Amino acid sequence: MQTQRLRIAIQKKGRLSKECQDLLKRCGVKFNMVGERLVVHAENMPIDLLLVRDDDIPGLIMDGVVDLGVIGENELEEVSLERSARHEASDYLKLRRLDFGGCRLSIAIDKDADYNGPQDLNGKRIATTYPQLVKRYMDNIGVQFTTCMLNGSVEVAPRAGLADAICDLVSTGATLEANGLKEAEVILRSKAVLIQSMAVISAEKQALIERLLIRIQGVIQAKESKYIMLHAPTDRLNQIKQLLPGAEDPTVLPLAGDKSRVAIHLVSSENLFWETMEQLKELGASSILVLPIEKMME
Ligand code: ATP
Ligand code: MG
Repeated sequence: MQTQRLRIAIQKKGRLSKECQDLLKRCGVKFNMVGERLVVHAENMPIDLLLVRDDDIPGLIMDGVVDLGVIGENELEEVSLERSARHEASDYLKLRRLDFGGCRLSIAIDKDADYNGPQDLNGKRIATTYPQLVKRYMDNIGVQFTTCMLNGSVEVAPRAGLADAICDLVSTGATLEANGLKEAEVILRSKAVLIQSMAVISAEKQALIERLLIRIQGVIQAKESKYIMLHAPTDRLNQIKQLLPGAEDPTVLPLAGDKSRVAIHLVSSENLFWETMEQLKELGASSILVLPIEKMME
């Protein structure tokens, strides 16, 4: 079922959807989300967005129904294990990790329970939405357990007497705490990833994917970088450079009418802290500007 347009599956509603749409927009893909549409056509590129539940994204990729997808590694790996256990297609190509959707999949137990390590989970019943990932982890460390499969409200299972422990996604830990639980083991650290189907596609589509990847790289790199400009005394140049993060190759420009000072411009992969700015000032720097970068291409 090949179409000429590149199909990208993204989460319709949820924790990944806004950042996913923002990323595509920053990459120059123009689209308009209206109503409850399943497919949204990009206006300026041969791209269609498929808006689905995140659970469906790995399968759509593995069956070759869509070309690209953005999905949390937790969901991706769970579905991949489940499908390979059923001898169904479970292959995909991981194009790159993205800079959002960060969380960890952790086993949590009663906050008052005595815990000395994974052996203490022996014989426990663990409530989870990720039975495959729990099994992989427990088999690896050789600990026996049973699961209780729940698709929601996993964190109330111990209190409700359904399980002894849970294995669920955690970002701040506030939900665990609110339910009288504590994190015992982290079994997976996850982020959103861009994946591609293994299906053979046209050279045009592949070229479009390569272009998108370069743009995504540029967007993520730009977000993590700052443009720093300042004026500094010419004779303190070396000391000043040592204070600047990533200042291997700064641009040093003369200042009209003032030979004792120069302008320094550089792209830094780190932010400039207030403390560093104060130190720069003590060395005689002035007009220190830290600017966000919108796009980057190397
Ligand atoms: P859908 O309706 O699409 O099935 P969902 O309820 O399964 O949505 P969300 O809660 O929107 O999923 O989470 C989507 C993904 O966001 C998770 O699978 C995970 O990769 C990531 N994520 C990041 N932080 C968290 C968090 N604190 N809790 C849960 N998921 C998180
Ligand atoms: Mg889901």
